[in-house]
Amino acid sequence: MVRQHNPTRDDDLRPGDEIDELLGEANPNPDRVGCPSRETLVELARRARPIDDPAYEHLVKCSPCYREVRAFQEEWATGAASRQKRTRWLVAAAAVLLIALASTWLLTRGPESPSSTPTTPRTQVAEVRTELDLRKYAVLRNDQSAEPIKSVVLPVAVVELTLLLPVGSEPGTYDVQLFDLNLKARAGARAAGRVRNFITTVQATVDLRKLETGPYQLAVRRVGEDWLLFPAELR
Ligand SMILES: [Zn+2]
Repeated sequence: MVRQHNPTRDDDLRPGDEIDELLGEANPNPDRVGCPSRETLVELARRARPIDDPAYEHLVKCSPCYREVRAFQEEWATGAASRQKRTRWLVAAAAVLLIALASTWLLTRGPESPSSTPTTPRTQVAEVRTELDLRKYAVLRNDQSAEPIKSVVLPVAVVELTLLLPVGSEPGTYDVQLFDLNLKARAGARAAGRVRNFITTVQATVDLRKLETGPYQLAVRRVGEDWLLFPAELR
């Protein structure tokens, strides 16, 4: 990938405007499907993540998250010293998003055959559906059973997770993260927890394709509450 920089065009050009309009409106995502955590959005806004981080792809698909990221950037930029600096910052930020946008297009277009029909405009990434019943963990904790806790198993894929939350979990907005053994978040999403068949259930899409197989912790929390950790294994 080529990083392009056009310092001579900083003065009059605001490439952010058009992109902002496009990405800020195009994908309403009212249910906030697959949205990363606020921490991730802040990192994206700070460009603290590598340019090929899959989280950038989400910004291309989700206008609310895109707007949040841009709002962070604007906020920091207005706090910055000079107007010139601010403009340069915005240009740089927009350029990063452009690169992410371009690479997403390449990714989604790449494997497609030339004869593919316009009826399948969605990305070609197959999502693997996985349902995890986390209700038993609460029981284990209470009766202090000696039975070792089994890891939940996740595939290296884009996973459409359905989590059946432990008894007592309230509906609301949930963060779902996959922590590595250093408790560093490696993938995640924000999603709604809804009561279904008397069970609070969260559906979230997480992209685990870039992660190595091995042990992790599946972390779930209702926003504002403590994380619940479940041993997980990526296979
Ligand atoms: Zn989003």
